[in-house]
Amino acid sequence: MRAYDVVVIGSGVGGGSVALQLAGCNTKVLILERGPALPREAQNWDPVEVFCERRYHTKETWFADGRAFNPGMFYFVGGNTKFYGAAMFRFREKDFEALQHPEGVSPAWPITYQELEPWYSKAEQLFGVRGQAGQDPSEPPRSSAYAHGPIPHEPVIDAIAAKLRAQGLRPFPMPCAVDFGPQGTCQRCSNCDAFPCKINAKGDAEMKLIEPARRSSNIELMTNALVEKFETDDTGRTVVAAVVNVNGVRQRITASTFVLSAGAINSAALLLRSANARNPRGLANSSDVVGRHYMTHNTSALMAVHPFKINKTQFPKTLAVHDYYFGEGEGDTPLGSLQLLGKIKEPMLRGSLGAVPKFIRSALATHSVDWYAQSEDLPHPDSRITIRPDGAINLHWHRSNMQTHHRWVARCKSILRGTGYPIVLTAPFGTDVVSHQCGTIRFGNDPAVSALDPLCKAWDHDNLFVMDSSFFPSSAAVNPALTVAAQGLRVGNHIREEIIR
Ligand SMILES: Cc1cc2nc3c(=O)[nH]c(=O)nc-3n(C[C@H](O)[C@H](O)[C@H](O)COP(=O)(O)OP(=O)(O)OC[C@H]3O[C@@H](n4cnc5c(N)ncnc54)[C@H](O)[C@@H]3O)c2cc1C
Repeated sequence: MRAYDVVVIGSGVGGGSVALQLAGCNTKVLILERGPALPREAQNWDPVEVFCERRYHTKETWFADGRAFNPGMFYFVGGNTKFYGAAMFRFREKDFEALQHPEGVSPAWPITYQELEPWYSKAEQLFGVRGQAGQDPSEPPRSSAYAHGPIPHEPVIDAIAAKLRAQGLRPFPMPCAVDFGPQGTCQRCSNCDAFPCKINAKGDAEMKLIEPARRSSNIELMTNALVEKFETDDTGRTVVAAVVNVNGVRQRITASTFVLSAGAINSAALLLRSANARNPRGLANSSDVVGRHYMTHNTSALMAVHPFKINKTQFPKTLAVHDYYFGEGEGDTPLGSLQLLGKIKEPMLRGSLGAVPKFIRSALATHSVDWYAQSEDLPHPDSRITIRPDGAINLHWHRSNMQTHHRWVARCKSILRGTGYPIVLTAPFGTDVVSHQCGTIRFGNDPAVSALDPLCKAWDHDNLFVMDSSFFPSSAAVNPALTVAAQGLRVGNHIREEIIR
């Protein structure tokens, strides 16, 4: 048995932001991370190893309505950001308000954009986000400029930007947490999005949060430490211990405050697995919302192909289009975000185009400019994580708002054809892609319909916070990591100022 003041479970963006806020305090903090530190090795940048061999994926099996699958989850120090695409967007002001979509309402958040704005600024600085304010037509107001200018386009992307402007659109530099520029470490390799960075030029949670936090002597990190469940006292209100499996050996770790940051799916699973006599539906779950309202965005990949043009771009993620984020005009409903993807390579197509001869896959990959169309999925109570009798995770993704997504993809195809690429191939991402998972332990103002208060403390427990993407009541249509970081810094600040002082 070991005792700490604060135990943080998970070393991703959520856990890392809280830990960084507690660094240097007169308090003993332990971060428990189920994975190891990711090795820096040649395979980091090998698409066959990363995509085909799935070298870094968890070996776990989850189920989607009974069908077994290997989820795209990465259990390392830094969590999923070790593999993320580093697109660091703020949610829009209106994303915090109730928004009508054709298939339902995207619910309001219990906090406003203005409450999170200072924390967005801080998160951008910590992650070294590069961007340019005032260019994104849907951009919310900001109190500070980006600390670093945007990553410049390569020639193919520059030409596309001009073609987009000729269509009357306002393409803008994608905000990106990659250390490119004067004195920057990025080499503009072509293995960034969905690869770990061998030279640590990507602003991920390990490099930007966990490592800086660990420079303080009060922060300890334990790796290969899988938290299996929580124990409460006899009242059921206070969490007293985390039961941790460290390399096969079980330990009880006690603390005054627990911060659960295992990611939206694993955090919900852990609370459900911790059910006891006083909390029969699982911890933090008197409202019965834990595990429900799972969202992960409606997303499609688009390959814009020109049969006679080779795309030699190394780092394409420099541009996005948000002219239709809130729809095509007055009275319309929101459509979504169009962003450049990391460069698709032949091995990445082996899964989806396995039946197609390799030379065709290679030709497609060398001639394509690759895009990502993203639109909002809506929270639904039956979109749900549950635990099977054998202990495994079952995922039921109740797909929603697909009418909007189909409309957005069709619009994107016509935009991309207008840039001079006559062939646009599209493929929707399916259930197995859980990268933008969120919503499973929602925060709110009403304990009857939310699990967490607006500062992410469990309504049902005195000393349990949940701080990862599970708190989102809606998913918006931009990437989640910066919003997790901003709320993590806000919650960490609250714990430092109000809870442990
Ligand atoms: C390929 C890919 C590309 C992406 N690209 C982008 C992008 O460009 N922009 C963007 O904003 N977002 C992107 N995302 C999403 C982004 O990475 C996530 O939103 C973000 O990392 C979520 O952070 P988190 O702290 O909620 O959870 P996680 O990153 O999942 O962190 C949870 C941590 O908890 C650990 N853990 C889990 N269970 C336990 C347990 N029981 N005990 C102990 N430890 C545990 C995990 O190992 C992990 O380290 C991408 C994701 C992927 C996979």
